[in-house]
Amino acid sequence: MTGRVTIDADLNFVQGLIHHGGADLKKCYQCSTCTVACPLTPDEAPFPRKEMLWAQWGMKDKLVRDMDLWLCHNCNDCTDLCPRGAKPGEVMSALRNKTIEHYSYPAGISKSAKTMSGNVVLFLVPMFLIALVIVIQNIDNNFAFLTAKPIVYANMLPVNLVDLLFIPPALFALFNAYKAISSFIRGLKEQYPPTEKGESLLTAINGTIKDVLSHIEFKKCGTNKGRNFSHKLMMYGFIGLFITTNSVFVLHWLHEFGFDVQTTPLPFFHPVKILGNVSSVAAFAGIYLILRDRIKNSNETVLTLFDWMFIGNMFLIIVTGILCQVFRVGDHAYLAFITYYIHLVQVFYLIAYASQTKFGHIFYRPAAMIYSRYSGRNKNIFSNL
Ligand code: SF4
Ligand code: SF4
Repeated sequence: MTGRVTIDADLNFVQGLIHHGGADLKKCYQCSTCTVACPLTPDEAPFPRKEMLWAQWGMKDKLVRDMDLWLCHNCNDCTDLCPRGAKPGEVMSALRNKTIEHYSYPAGISKSAKTMSGNVVLFLVPMFLIALVIVIQNIDNNFAFLTAKPIVYANMLPVNLVDLLFIPPALFALFNAYKAISSFIRGLKEQYPPTEKGESLLTAINGTIKDVLSHIEFKKCGTNKGRNFSHKLMMYGFIGLFITTNSVFVLHWLHEFGFDVQTTPLPFFHPVKILGNVSSVAAFAGIYLILRDRIKNSNETVLTLFDWMFIGNMFLIIVTGILCQVFRVGDHAYLAFITYYIHLVQVFYLIAYASQTKFGHIFYRPAAMIYSRYSGRNKNIFSNL
């Protein structure tokens, strides 16, 4: 017996997808080679052929609740073998960006992050705010920090003020991420109701943490084998920098409360300084390798402004962070303080808009991976797919 199926097509969604990374989507003729080639897809309801079909038909509701978009690790084995050049790996990536935009809270920020003029506005916020605080802090002493020796960044912007500038956007980002990921998980639950074959939530979280730290999924990639190493370098580099920044924060406040601890500028062989420097080098090497591979495979990969803003932002954070130290040690005051200002602006952008930009994948992917285990995704057939 056959039933009637009504498809709620969203043509604006298809157009948006085509303009933001999925330009070759319509070339797909559903041969399924990509699904056979994918090293990460489960046997039941596999990807990415079905996503190509849903995307061609404009089935936005299914796609924004599609856990499989996030189980794909962009290895591009599928793109490599697609006989029509439809670039399914890139379409999956564009669909992830659309998902971030769909759940973005507040919605406008993600839309802005996709356009040049929008990004100018997003950058103007920290540029103006940080400059204003620097001026207010230093106007009475005639910007004495510029000529004071040795160069100390806290003379321009005391750590208390840095905390005051960065804690509110961090809280803003966490709140927005909570709102976005809650809606995302509600969507996953509707599309993939939990089954009795799923793991407990604790086991699912535990397993996902191990998967992320070991990059086990990246290791299965064929075409983009090197991505396992480069992404791991970048991820561990940024984890190291995150720990470094928070250690500096803790040291500062311990010192403020009378504890006898070293504060910034830390000596070269201080453990926190060593961690920071090693992490910077790792993150820089990771980003460099990712960029090199992307450019080398530029006929197969598609980088949108949304992608470039993320990569460029990460790259500038690392480079300005390293240069801050170089210029400080080399006693180039103007260069040092300008570089530090650019560094702060870039860090503000990364933190404040974390869940609405491409950086948001650090929330979405683990959430989907946890839910995949929790729902028993790779052990079950979802009849509604
Ligand atoms: S994306 Fe390419 S490989 Fe996949 S189904 Fe379409 S035409 Fe076939
Ligand atoms: S990019 Fe890799 S993981 Fe993603 S669908 Fe294609 S083959 Fe699978």
